[in-house]
Amino acid sequence: MANDGLAVAPETARQLRAATALAEKLGLSGPEALAGYLPRRHEDRRQGWHPSDGLPMGPVHFQGVVTQSKLNRWRGRRCSVEVNLEVAGKGLSAGERVRLVYYNLPFLARAFPEGKRVAAYGRVEEKKGIFTLAHPETESIELGKEEGIHLDRVVPIYPLITGLTQRRVRSTIYYYLKSSPPVVPECFPTLEGLPTREEAWRIFHFPESLAEVEKARRRLAYEELVGIAFSLRVRRAAREAIRVERPPKVRDLVEPWRKTLPWKMTGDQIKVCAEVDEDLRLMRPMHRLLQGDVGSGKTLVAAHALLRALEHGSHVALMAPTTLLVEQHATSLRKMLPTKHLEIVTWTSTSKPGPAGLFPRITIGTHALFAEKARLSRLSLCVIDEQQRFGVKQRAAFLAKGERPDLLVLTATPIPRTYHLFTHGDLDVSLLKEMPPGRGKVRTLVRDGSAVEKIWAHLKDRVEQGDRVYVVVPRLGDGVEDPAEEASVRRTHEQLSAQIGAKRVALLHGKMKEAEKLEVLEQFRQGKISVLVATTVVEVGVDVPEANWMVIDYADRLGLSQLHQLRGRIGRGGRNGKCVLIHRTGQPDAVARLEFLEKNQDGFLIAEEDYRIRGPGDILGADQSGLPRFRHTHLPEDDSLAENAKAEAQRQMEGEWRDWTGLVEAEKRARADFAAN
Ligand code: ADP
Ligand code: MG
Repeated sequence: MANDGLAVAPETARQLRAATALAEKLGLSGPEALAGYLPRRHEDRRQGWHPSDGLPMGPVHFQGVVTQSKLNRWRGRRCSVEVNLEVAGKGLSAGERVRLVYYNLPFLARAFPEGKRVAAYGRVEEKKGIFTLAHPETESIELGKEEGIHLDRVVPIYPLITGLTQRRVRSTIYYYLKSSPPVVPECFPTLEGLPTREEAWRIFHFPESLAEVEKARRRLAYEELVGIAFSLRVRRAAREAIRVERPPKVRDLVEPWRKTLPWKMTGDQIKVCAEVDEDLRLMRPMHRLLQGDVGSGKTLVAAHALLRALEHGSHVALMAPTTLLVEQHATSLRKMLPTKHLEIVTWTSTSKPGPAGLFPRITIGTHALFAEKARLSRLSLCVIDEQQRFGVKQRAAFLAKGERPDLLVLTATPIPRTYHLFTHGDLDVSLLKEMPPGRGKVRTLVRDGSAVEKIWAHLKDRVEQGDRVYVVVPRLGDGVEDPAEEASVRRTHEQLSAQIGAKRVALLHGKMKEAEKLEVLEQFRQGKISVLVATTVVEVGVDVPEANWMVIDYADRLGLSQLHQLRGRIGRGGRNGKCVLIHRTGQPDAVARLEFLEKNQDGFLIAEEDYRIRGPGDILGADQSGLPRFRHTHLPEDDSLAENAKAEAQRQMEGEWRDWTGLVEAEKRARADFAAN
């Protein structure tokens, strides 16, 4: 470090003092830590602008000479400072005038003496024919002496706290890094082609160009990814070190039950059930993710796990994201399982189970399961259905209901390979790839809005043939309680009721009472109604095997994965059917997206495509998924970095590289990001 206490130039000493004070204000350990206090983003303040270019779209940078500056005082204590600049002419043309205005900052009148050269950056408006900038950033230019810190370069924008200005933070860091740049330790070997950590930090503060920023960003992203991957591995190792006692088997449930199943299990179902059995024999808690495309029969595996755990214990629980789904699971498990020997209860916002009786118990519930403080007595297994709908914290809250219970989570949203580690790196993974046999063929068709009348008329025929139809009208806005959504499902419901007959058509939307929803779904299941007009509430889990037709209106508003989930609701029984996707905008890429679904059935392929188009956040729902919020990483562009980070984290665990200082730091940062979720 430059500050060795001897011959420190007074200027350097002053800069160091300023840096120390700033670091203290920011709560950092010392001035050296400023090197790691990285900007949030950068602004390219170099692009030159000249008034003869006309009114610019975004903020611009230019230079001029002050021709006049005046202070206007108004009533009250309000005032404005107007500064006129002459911007040098282009070629032989005369200079042109631009005006800077500052409101209620009278002292600025003195800051712009006539003849001073000024550089300015900001948004330009045209006011009474004059190009005007309100409160632009400016910097005086003393030719040959002043270095452009705030202007005329790619400028860092720092995260601020109250009492600090962008300018103060920026110039303090600038002079400090210039006069006494601290040594930045490398935390692990960098990737070929990426800068060192020290370089990356230096570049990120004061880059020469945006291309350089990108290079540094990639290095920072790499570090971030290694940190997260490492932290997940540490967690996994910690989990694997936990030892649990497994009580002996007290009853036989699984084998007798299997004999009663109406169909043969698929090869994959058999394999995954065996994996679960293996987990439940080990002396550490199961921590397994079951990934299977919509309709692959995950519920059966869940039932197997629940029964197996009950052979040894007395309480197991299944959590699902909606009351509708909870009730459906309760109904189908009551049908499927040997209820003479056990008790199935539900726990939702409207129903709460009484105290456990003599029988071993399966509790099926929504978020209500973990919302209350009460612990579930002797809970030995937690199963989470549609786990993409729950966050990491919710998962933890559910698990906390028992004493180190086993965990099985089910998801139908396949996670692209590279992304997997960062979402489920701490879980063991099972796959259901094979679909149960004996299902109808479902063809997908894309149509534009003009075909709607024809489609409705055709539905009438289908209903007369005995088909059962979902008509999905998605939410139109982003708000959950969107009146537009309700209105448009209602409108469609009215139209179809008029055409097909009010008795055969019913409505299902999120705002209905739970009991009403269940009633409607039950009537649809029994075939008393043939057409269910619904919002996307039917997206997750709903299982009515007889349904074989689906029409999705405004399909261009939904993502590929979501459409695939919806379409997975049909063709579960033996009847052939169709899924019609109606688009209303006709935008070529929206149509192309839908056509991708016409051609592809494989949920994994569809998820990869969705990920490529929209990035990971949208697929999984940024706030629900419990994914770390990346600060520097951009997926999917950084996929290859992620792959490398995975390998690096593994090497770290194996101890190939022994300097853990930086890693601990990176890991801490990753943890903070997790905690922020
Ligand atoms: P998901 O994986 O989407 O949750 P489900 O568990 O709801 O799928 O199963 C989809 C449908 O397939 C259900 O109607 C279920 O009864 C049926 N099913 C499950 N396993 C089999 C099997 N081995 N053979 C035939 N049908 C099956
Ligand atoms: Mg399911």
